[in-house]
Amino acid sequence: MGAQVQGKSLLAANWKMNPVSAPAAAELVRGVMPAAEAHKDHVEVVICPPFPWLLGVAELLDNTTVELGAQDCFWEDAGPYTGEVSAAMLHGWCHWVIVGHSERRLSFGETDEHVARKAAAALACGLEVIVCVGELSEHFEAGKSEEIVTAQVHASLAGCAADDSARLVIAYEPVWAIGSGKNADPEHAYKTMRLIRSVVGQMIGAGAAKKVRVLYGGSVTAANVESYVELPLCDGCLVGGASLKSDEFTKMIEVTAEVYGHRA
Ligand code: PEP
Repeated sequence: MGAQVQGKSLLAANWKMNPVSAPAAAELVRGVMPAAEAHKDHVEVVICPPFPWLLGVAELLDNTTVELGAQDCFWEDAGPYTGEVSAAMLHGWCHWVIVGHSERRLSFGETDEHVARKAAAALACGLEVIVCVGELSEHFEAGKSEEIVTAQVHASLAGCAADDSARLVIAYEPVWAIGSGKNADPEHAYKTMRLIRSVVGQMIGAGAAKKVRVLYGGSVTAANVESYVELPLCDGCLVGGASLKSDEFTKMIEVTAEVYGHRA
């Protein structure tokens, strides 16, 4: 089974570089809040807005069970790193940070080594960390998903230790599934998530690895979320495009809560 912290599934909303205005960000938060609060016993909701909206969204989330996350961080605490935001700066505002998203890897040249440094810095600051891994379509088509994901997990988690396990989440996001409308077959997602858990077990010990949560991400919608959250080993989903529509994300929370409600 997955880590399933307190019998809850995790739904993390990665807004990417959206929406373009603060009022639109506030409207989005207000739209999902009723479902998030209503289903807080079964679903842990994390919202990851762009940096400029973090403060405003933090105010809206104050005294709610919905948690705030950033989409990236830098490993140094402070210094001459124009444009960067450190994990140390985020701590205090955010509970969470995403590192190693494929858009950062592909569009901004992030390597596994960068991801490992970011993850280690964020964990050292006390943040909960979502580390993204996933193969390109050519790897998938060549049957190399397992090889690529194994190597990414090893390298991206190089700075993580057993003590970090309860604050560590790995999102399996096949790159070909992100934003494409081509969500991965749940069977493929399941096998790869099982592999991830076993690789993490080899790295930090099987006992600690049980506390690490593993998510699926890639074109998850209200129509297909059930096929992932019902998988044994799947602790939730990282959601991009569908998290930008409050009705759709609300439905995803409701569907997920129903799956977990039946388990309780
Ligand atoms: C993502 O950006 O992490 C993601 C999974 O995007 P989408 O849901 O749009 O495929």
